[in-house]
Amino acid sequence: MAADSADPASERTPESLPICSACAEVRRAVASARAAGQRVALVPTMGALHAGHERLIEQARREAPFVVVSIFVNPTQFGPAEDFERYPRTLDADRGLCARGGAAVIFAPAVATMYPHGLDATYVEVPALSAVLEGASRPGHFRGVATVVLKLLNIVGPDLAFFGEKDYQQLRVIERMVADLVVPVTIRPVPIVREPDGLAVSSRNRYLNGEERQAATVLSRALGRAVGAVAAGERSADRVRQILRQTVESEVLARLDYAEVADAETLEPLERLETPRRAIALLAARVGPARLIDNMVLPS
Ligand code: AMP
Repeated sequence: MAADSADPASERTPESLPICSACAEVRRAVASARAAGQRVALVPTMGALHAGHERLIEQARREAPFVVVSIFVNPTQFGPAEDFERYPRTLDADRGLCARGGAAVIFAPAVATMYPHGLDATYVEVPALSAVLEGASRPGHFRGVATVVLKLLNIVGPDLAFFGEKDYQQLRVIERMVADLVVPVTIRPVPIVREPDGLAVSSRNRYLNGEERQAATVLSRALGRAVGAVAAGERSADRVRQILRQTVESEVLARLDYAEVADAETLEPLERLETPRRAIALLAARVGPARLIDNMVLPS
């Protein structure tokens, strides 16, 4: 494979979009782009690509002509009872979306490439931000995320890396890791892409049947109500949590995991919404076979 950096990425067809599986291959492709004076962006994904990922690739293309999309279902961020085995793997369709979005190369390594000495040989942890919310529900999740993202950053060496606000806590964990370990990359957050009815686009939405898909809109409706209440003057974080909880619990097909109102930087739970700091409402709920998360920044 040769990722010819002189090819304008926008002219790629799915068949001509290179897929690298070895670290040295993707490094060579990046080196030739750099030699041609191009900025390099990384969009880390687990594949099963959708409109949310497409937005990340588009944003990356605006700032860097050479966009690497990594596709890797990372085993270390899944718990033993989670969906690692059945997580959708759709590389052919993903290649089409990456080509349309203007990616220059896909990096799709095997597990043994990313973890040559086993899954817990060496790891990174960001304890300050990893204990609460998703971290409390999914022990070890952010250790897996931080570790794989640091590996991807070290393999690709991008100028910029793009992460969705859909996984808000993940974004904060990555930002903190990059700052604390002085990783030479700029992290760019990308706003949540939603379906017309408000549901945050997610690879896991494909686990839902028609009825569950309809029920899943309860997450964004609950967050919308929370935003509305704060805009109308509600200042008690507990009252906002109650609005979130009651709305989700009103949907019989949904089972709430957590409903939190937190400082948007530190993720610490808030009591009052009167601080100069930004506040965010975060939700996780199970709908049928899918565990879904969503969030919205609350008005200041
Ligand atoms: P994943 O493939 O689920 O690991 O997601 C890869 C990246 O895409 C992460 O940075 C996610 O936050 C981001 N992402 C996933 N869904 C969305 C969405 N609906 N809007 C914006 N970004 C998203």
